[in-house]
Amino acid sequence: MSARNILVINCGSSSIKFALVNEAQTTFPLQGLAERLGSPEAVIHWQFGDVKETLSLPGADHQVALGEILPLAQEAAGGRLSGIGHRVVHGGEHFTDARLIDESVIEGIRTSAQLAPLHNPAHLIGIAATMSLFPDLPQVSVFDTAFHQTMPPHAYRYAVPEFLYKEHGVRRYGFHGTSHRYVSKRAAEMAGLPVEDSAWLSAHLGNGCSTCAIVNGESRDTSMGLTPLEGLVMGTRSGDVDPNLHSYLERTLGWTIEQVDRMLNNDSGLKGLSGLSNDMRTLSEACLSGHPGAVLAFEVFCYRLAKSLAGMACALPRLNGLIFTGGIGENSAAVRERTVEHLKLFGFQLDAEANARCTRGLAGEIQAAGSPRVIVVPTNEERQIALDTLALLDA
Ligand code: ADP
Repeated sequence: MSARNILVINCGSSSIKFALVNEAQTTFPLQGLAERLGSPEAVIHWQFGDVKETLSLPGADHQVALGEILPLAQEAAGGRLSGIGHRVVHGGEHFTDARLIDESVIEGIRTSAQLAPLHNPAHLIGIAATMSLFPDLPQVSVFDTAFHQTMPPHAYRYAVPEFLYKEHGVRRYGFHGTSHRYVSKRAAEMAGLPVEDSAWLSAHLGNGCSTCAIVNGESRDTSMGLTPLEGLVMGTRSGDVDPNLHSYLERTLGWTIEQVDRMLNNDSGLKGLSGLSNDMRTLSEACLSGHPGAVLAFEVFCYRLAKSLAGMACALPRLNGLIFTGGIGENSAAVRERTVEHLKLFGFQLDAEANARCTRGLAGEIQAAGSPRVIVVPTNEERQIALDTLALLDA
């Protein structure tokens, strides 16, 4: 059988990220982004092999953009596309793993939309469009939340009245599950351990950031909660704050719930603390020249990350290693160094040269002799979604 091709699609409210994954190739034959959909500036950028192209599609919606993307994917796959994998942010408690899309799955995604009002409706538009354009291709949904459905109640329940959980789904779900699952499997391979008999702390540090405790290939706890706002300091998100902050700002500044939500999601995190940028690269450079806001943002980011990892350790029976991934985790030796300094009690120590070397997609172990493993693992959510899609096609 020749190597199969899966198109992986991630539909946002005004964008579609896509990648063609070939099971035998490490790079994507085709990848791209459609953005500003629904506006006069709608555009698709893609790279096919070494060639980069742009197509302007004024006013195009998801359906029109997918009408352009799908033939591109068929061409890149030599006319042999085996299926489509959709990233879906929220599967609520309905989905514990990837699913072949049928009416009941669509209904489950719709029901979970209350919990992800910006994301799930956009995913449904993408699914409807690809199903109408390619009715005969198998389509699979892979949920960001599914990996964390193995958390025990003592990790996922909030200490609020029971009816809020039972009747309204108020609990911790966690996100970035596809990434934590992928990197923990890779880390186990790199360490020569069976993933079913291994225990990891994982830090996914991108624009959104989360930690996870993974035991024998299962999530036991994670830092994000009902929504992706809980937990760590992120690019523009605050992470944990006092839950009374809403009422305090209402009383003192007269802010509405919407104003507080916007502030916590869009104006906080690295951006809010530094007053400079949400981007760790910019902040790392500014730290070198002693910018006080950048230094503070960097210090709070690393301290809070270390504190979360130390908390996650409660979910582990033993520890095989600490994994760093995501744009910051894969590239910032400074963040890794500072974070690990706060975790001395666990015996962690880095090898400075190995830490400096592991950037720009280079995976490797970076601990000093005698320290538990610390591993940099580039994440690859697209490949994991393609693998899940292929596994369902094989089943
Ligand atoms: P997303 O969550 O949108 O997928 P990424 O995983 O690409 O985001 O991570 C984006 C973050 O990674 C940004 O804060 C960016 O500054 C950071 N980053 C990328 N390269 C570096 C680097 N060399 N040093 C520090 N931070 C970096």
